[in-house]
Amino acid sequence: MMKVTRKTFDEVMFPCYVPQDMVLERGQGCYLYDQSGRKYVDLSAGIAVNCLGHNHKGVVDVIAKQASRLIHVSNIFTNNQTLTLASKLVKLTGYDKVFFVNSGAEANEAALKLARRVAYDDYGEDKCEIISFDHSFHGRTLFSVSVGGQAKYYTGFGPIPGGITHVPYNDLETFKQTISDKTCAVMMEVIQGEGGILPADPDFIRAVRELCDQHHALLIFDEVQTGVGRTGSFYAYEQVGVRPDILTSAKGLAAGVPIGAILTYDRYAAHFKPGTHGSTFGGNPLACAVGSYVVDKVSDPLFLEQVRTNSDYLRQELQRLNDKYHVFQEIRGRGFLIGAELAPEYAGKLSTLQKLCTKHQLLVLTAGSNVLRLTPALIITKRIIDEAMVLLERAIQDLVAESKE
Ligand SMILES: *Cc1c(COP(=O)(O)O)cnc(C)c1O
Repeated sequence: MMKVTRKTFDEVMFPCYVPQDMVLERGQGCYLYDQSGRKYVDLSAGIAVNCLGHNHKGVVDVIAKQASRLIHVSNIFTNNQTLTLASKLVKLTGYDKVFFVNSGAEANEAALKLARRVAYDDYGEDKCEIISFDHSFHGRTLFSVSVGGQAKYYTGFGPIPGGITHVPYNDLETFKQTISDKTCAVMMEVIQGEGGILPADPDFIRAVRELCDQHHALLIFDEVQTGVGRTGSFYAYEQVGVRPDILTSAKGLAAGVPIGAILTYDRYAAHFKPGTHGSTFGGNPLACAVGSYVVDKVSDPLFLEQVRTNSDYLRQELQRLNDKYHVFQEIRGRGFLIGAELAPEYAGKLSTLQKLCTKHQLLVLTAGSNVLRLTPALIITKRIIDEAMVLLERAIQDLVAESKE
């Protein structure tokens, strides 16, 4: 194989990322190994994607078997794997119909287009306004990034699509003043992931649901990050007692193979008539075969119970470390979607902490400008959590020492 180093990245890759210093080569469970064989404990899981860990035997077998049978046929034809996964998702969630895509952004793009089309068909073109929330993240296509509530991500790409209003999250008064009969959709995350692991207030979610009903606006939950067992239930909406009209899912749905899906009721899906929307790769048999395997595994009540127990343990261990070092002002999140917000005296030190973690062979994520984000594989055990906490403690000790200098 060609000899590549981290320097190769700067030479041949677009500079939109600044990856950590090593080049990864191999993974096993919750461990990753770089080119020199150095081992890392991975609490990132490919940004909440590798829900069953790296190189999971079942996943590898499904991929190998399906690859030897059928990888792709397009939607001009259907196939057994697409239909199987769609049937499983419908049965699991109680929605009627599924549309498959290849990523979270594409799922949100499809959901937003569907909401616009439903409103257009039923009420006319004036009902086209979309409300979303400050700090939300919905992907990087021009429509999804514009609906996302972080101006830094859509600035410089204008003109951006019109009819989008961002309001503060968990601020019912402002939301009430903004929604109208011209609103066709409200898009929200049950817990804002990229924005900083910020949960929506359950009362707020319920009020948003009621106001959407009053104004015939579709409520879209972006469960791209919160879905597929991440928060301790298969989808996070199950824990807040509010059902969206359209649900979007991606990230963990095929354990690392690209996939996305939107779920909704017949009365809305019916508006995507032949020719209105499409995808070349969406619903390909390879991704769907893995998706079926993941749904079977992760929807098992015993699996989800393990996620809740072990994630409580991780949060508790983080708290214990923090009682000793006081580097975080708050530890929050649900299940294995965990955020630890840096205390004011460490503001601006987030990327330093992340680099120190990497130095101590622990891989972590960040969310927003001040939050350490942990999204380990859902299969992580208490023993590996203990191992991770030893490494995190070393990184925190370095951070504390560095800050005293
Ligand atoms: C990651 C993410 C997306 C975008 O998904 P891609 O697969 O990167 O397009 C959208 N919404 C949320 C909530 C996400 O976490």
